[in-house]
Amino acid sequence: MPAPDRPPATPPTLSRGRPDRCPGAVRLHHADDGSVARIRIPGGLLSADQMDEIVCAATELGDGSLEVTSRGNLQVRGLAPSCGGDLADRLYAVGLLPSVAHDRARNVLLSPLSGLDGRGLSDLTPAVGDYDEILRGTTALAELSGRFLVAFDDGRHDVAALDADVTLVARAERVTELLLAGLPTGLTVAAGDAARCAASAVESFLAARAAAGADSWRVRDLVSSPLDLLAAVRHLLDDRAVPHEQSDPGLRPSAGRRQGPALGVVRSPEGPAVLSVAAPLGRAPAASWQALVALARTAVGDLRLTPWRGIVIPGVEVAGCTTGLASLASAGFVTNARSPRAGVTACTGRPGCAKSLADVHADAVASFGAQRASGTTLLPLHWSGCERRCGHPTGARVEVVAQPGGHYALERHDIADLPTTTALAADASTQALAGAVSAARRTP
Ligand code: SF4
Repeated sequence: MPAPDRPPATPPTLSRGRPDRCPGAVRLHHADDGSVARIRIPGGLLSADQMDEIVCAATELGDGSLEVTSRGNLQVRGLAPSCGGDLADRLYAVGLLPSVAHDRARNVLLSPLSGLDGRGLSDLTPAVGDYDEILRGTTALAELSGRFLVAFDDGRHDVAALDADVTLVARAERVTELLLAGLPTGLTVAAGDAARCAASAVESFLAARAAAGADSWRVRDLVSSPLDLLAAVRHLLDDRAVPHEQSDPGLRPSAGRRQGPALGVVRSPEGPAVLSVAAPLGRAPAASWQALVALARTAVGDLRLTPWRGIVIPGVEVAGCTTGLASLASAGFVTNARSPRAGVTACTGRPGCAKSLADVHADAVASFGAQRASGTTLLPLHWSGCERRCGHPTGARVEVVAQPGGHYALERHDIADLPTTTALAADASTQALAGAVSAARRTP
């Protein structure tokens, strides 16, 4: 039973001294443009009917738009502070708030195309529901912070590269390996036990946190090496009679693989296809979401939200793909990876955030018109209203950050997250900024 290589120890933060401030469906965040609710969608999996109810709630209670977050959840803005009960009742009625106590703990990612395009090693879609059921049935797991993240990766290493605290990644057909804070452990279980292994790892974290008298939000906050939790996970699996094996750790997911499904039509080896689109800047108005719901209802009635702020519609008949994609493009979704709007995200900015130095959404949209479609896929681009850079992606990317005086600074980061090009400060209204952004996004 070879022990996994231990990474160099880094001192943990241990305690934060305060609870995290992530909003939920019940605990709203009060922003300058009204209250914000975040609706957890484990694995990004929801039905067209559930999405329809969220769109209605956003229209009747909020500002009518919906945002997809970097964890594949949905966010409603512009809510009245007193509408929390009404929103919670609506979500409960369609199964989107099955446990108030566990609401903010239900952060779960799934490879968005798992089981849909024939490319994964093992379809882990069932693990999402299994894990969510264990989570909701275990009182202690409600103590997780709103930032703790669990991921199920079908072997293509897309969500495995997104820095989840606990990841189960398919290593072979029906075999999954446990990763702790992104580090492969060499501990493997059957794919059918992936949810139980994930829950055991989460419980090991909470037990270690309690033993340390800490209030850590995430695995890396608590332990010098995430592998320190491995022995406790094995003990829990033994106690629960979950078969497991220890072997050499698999490959560490590469930051370079942090990419979601290609936009457009994704063909399946057999049967219907999948449509993959993105919400521009992660946000779209109610009418756009209604177009999406209508199309999903003509297919199998399901949707998947992605942590790349995209949406996948499975089960679309091949003959209807071109028309369907065109209808989503008309509704305002990004349907082509070579569009300057693809891969672009932004923080809240003005008017929602009091710290913001700019209306980053308006400035980003204005810059689209001055950018040309590319012959290749462009680097991700993130706009921030201040140096906190909320919601920025990791890995290779371009960042545009508002500065005092109505200017922006532009940075290009390499695959290891290091800024390689900085400088350039340009007025948002000038063509110079759009041109510099276009040039920086092109991979060398
Ligand atoms: S990056 Fe700054 S401006 Fe943008 S949401 Fe965060 S705090 Fe607000």
